[in-house]
Amino acid sequence: MTSDLRQQPDRGLLIVLSGPSGVGKGTVCKALREVDYNLVYSVSATTRAPRAGEIDGVNYFFKTKEQFIEMIEQNQLLEWAEYVGNYYGTPRSFVEETLAAGQDVILEIEVQGALKVRQKFAEAVFIFLMPPSLVELQNRIQTRGTDSAESIVRRMSTAIEELRMIEQYDYCVVNDQVEAACARIQAILVAEHCRRERVLPKIHNWMEEVH
Ligand code: 5GP
Repeated sequence: MTSDLRQQPDRGLLIVLSGPSGVGKGTVCKALREVDYNLVYSVSATTRAPRAGEIDGVNYFFKTKEQFIEMIEQNQLLEWAEYVGNYYGTPRSFVEETLAAGQDVILEIEVQGALKVRQKFAEAVFIFLMPPSLVELQNRIQTRGTDSAESIVRRMSTAIEELRMIEQYDYCVVNDQVEAACARIQAILVAEHCRRERVLPKIHNWMEEVH
């Protein structure tokens, strides 16, 4: 447990959700936020072009490569990574301020970025969302219809690499059905909030109040 947490017992929980492209991270995240009002989604910056229906500032902050590099140089990103030819990164100040305000923050990021977060926030909770099978994953990416044939091949080979990183995560959740996956993640969050290490600082503060 970091000293930060000891000083701030009411700090929110940082949750990192990873999983191969097409596994349904976005859908599960949205469903989670609908049932958990204390859970805040961190909007990432990316150099990827917006997909149909994506809104700047809601789905991503869409940036040019130059703007993204400037964000890196100004230390505005908590982590960043290159994924299938584009840059993706988590704006730092939003995450830090939201956690300090006592709200839980969920980062929906790929594995290289998750590993960087693990080095900085050992107390964060790392969840890997798995497809029911690789064949099912390929079907989902194809039926989404947003990727070229080349992008599908790259996303599938990246998915296989990502599955090899599962041992870096605390929990693995199969996304067979959104509601079921969502319920499993909620159960994890409830349990994580009850961890002794997270509750002890509060008790420590109580002790100080009565002396
Ligand atoms: P997509 O292009 O499908 O929206 O995202 C591609 C991958 O980038 C997904 O695995 C997604 O979770 C990941 N990603 C999105 N935002 C971030 C971020 O801020 N940092 C990192 N490292 N990965 C991200």
